[in-house]
Amino acid sequence: MSGLLPVEDAQARLLALRNALPPEKISFSECFGRYTSDDILAQRDQPAAQLSAMDGYAIRFDDLPGPWTVIGESAAGAAPGRTVNASEAMRIFTGAIVPDGADTVIVQEDVAADGTKLTLTGDGPGTRGRHIRARATDFAAGDCLLPAGTRLTPGAIAAAAMSGADQLTVGRRPRVAILTTGDELVQAGRALTAGQIPDSNSPMLSAMLAGEPAIVSLPHHVRDERAILAKLLKDLARRHDVIVTVGGASVGDHDHVRGALQDAGGQIDFWKIAMRPGKPLIAGRIGDAVLLGLPGNPSSAFVTATLFLLPLIRHLAGARDPLPAIHRSPLAIALDGGGGRRDYLRARLEYGRLTPLIGQDSGMTLPLATANALLIRDIAAPPRDAGAMADYIVIA
Ligand code: AMP
Ligand code: MG
Repeated sequence: MSGLLPVEDAQARLLALRNALPPEKISFSECFGRYTSDDILAQRDQPAAQLSAMDGYAIRFDDLPGPWTVIGESAAGAAPGRTVNASEAMRIFTGAIVPDGADTVIVQEDVAADGTKLTLTGDGPGTRGRHIRARATDFAAGDCLLPAGTRLTPGAIAAAAMSGADQLTVGRRPRVAILTTGDELVQAGRALTAGQIPDSNSPMLSAMLAGEPAIVSLPHHVRDERAILAKLLKDLARRHDVIVTVGGASVGDHDHVRGALQDAGGQIDFWKIAMRPGKPLIAGRIGDAVLLGLPGNPSSAFVTATLFLLPLIRHLAGARDPLPAIHRSPLAIALDGGGGRRDYLRARLEYGRLTPLIGQDSGMTLPLATANALLIRDIAAPPRDAGAMADYIVIA
């Protein structure tokens, strides 16, 4: 369809509207979900010495099958006191340093100890070096553990903490304002009169952003009045990096976001995307803030937030790879061909197979409650049978 921007082009233009925010130093306790600004290099070998992987006895492999004299103990957290010589064994525990002279650990289940006398009762270690973690098998000093722009997941935090770093340099979190528009909207939970509906998009967007590195203000709401909207946009732009409006993005007489953005001194960068739902998406700037105007229909708001808002937040917070990952799985049922816009069908992925949900009207909220994937159907895609492969994005 002419005049509509392809999704990838729109994503690229949106991310180009503003550079990632400057970095800041934070502690490990605050870093979950943030993006590293620099490569995290190992400052130490891990392990820093040969360590025992089991509770048992450190011995010389050539002394098998024993017996041995136990000459002391090596426990985690201290250096072993002495060297293991011929026919000697040292009691050792998981994580403790293997004493010089020893090259193998026998697990305690394979031996019997009587005072300082140790005899083999089980099979013993089959190979030299058994149950020993060699120095630097996890990583060596100087290795790049996490490239810049990596999301600090719990596992990445573990590696960063083990690296020897004391603090982490991460991208600053964007300050985000959510602004709903519409005379019909009432805060969820409040009494409704004829024609009014609960605002479901603010709590939905707040929840989508809760797992992201963003500082989200309490949502604002304005009636469909261009002058009030323009004033609020101007005000919010002074204190936020991103303003997300919801509703009022289309061509109706009561859709004021584009007009208000211009009245407030902002500029539109693009409007209207070749996607369904979500065609009337708006992107622009007002002062230093990026304005993202999502359409108001709940499914449209959800899909455009997934494809544009979350990548924008991740990009500003320093992500190397801010766009949603695209996966591929077989269809559980046949799927009609695509039309003039790319579809993002609310779908369920179960046992590795994708089923588009019944109810793809963008005004519906219930399918959002059951969907765990957005099934991507390209412009003019041919019809597909069950079992054919399809692209999708995982949604939470
Ligand atoms: P609009 O994008 O303003 O034309 O709104 C499209 C549809 O979405 C209308 O039916 C609105 O009532 C509905 N809508 C707009 N904003 C919200 C919201 N925050 N929560 C739930 N529904 C909304
Ligand atoms: Mg509206």
